[in-house]
Amino acid sequence: MATLEGVIERGGGRYYALCPVHADRSPSLTVRTAEDGRVLVHCFAGCSVESILHALGLGWEALFPDERTRDARIAIARRLGQPAEPDPLEVERWVLRIAAADLRAGKPLSAEDRARIKVARLRLAAARGETVA
Ligand SMILES: [Zn+2]
Repeated sequence: MATLEGVIERGGGRYYALCPVHADRSPSLTVRTAEDGRVLVHCFAGCSVESILHALGLGWEALFPDERTRDARIAIARRLGQPAEPDPLEVERWVLRIAAADLRAGKPLSAEDRARIKVARLRLAAARGETVA
């Protein structure tokens, strides 16, 4: 969040800031943490979350609590002598989580998104030894 300007704390863990995507003069970006730990980012001018993250040099993982604690989990795994390599299927689970978050936010999925979701479902099913028609 170091690159956000004009940050104003509004209480309840809610912050306003100048949007890094559009030419913003009065803070139209809100950042708050949801009860489940997800970070919710919204620009009242309508900039996409993806473009805001990109402008801040962040990835989607910055918004999700599981990913924020990933480094700590890897460090603990290393200390315990367990393999610290991330599960390749985790990427597929993230595809589904992000799609679900988009749908909840009322954001339509593109044909490309839907194709990627299908691939994620197939890979996860294959890992469980299932076949998908
Ligand atoms: Zn904006």
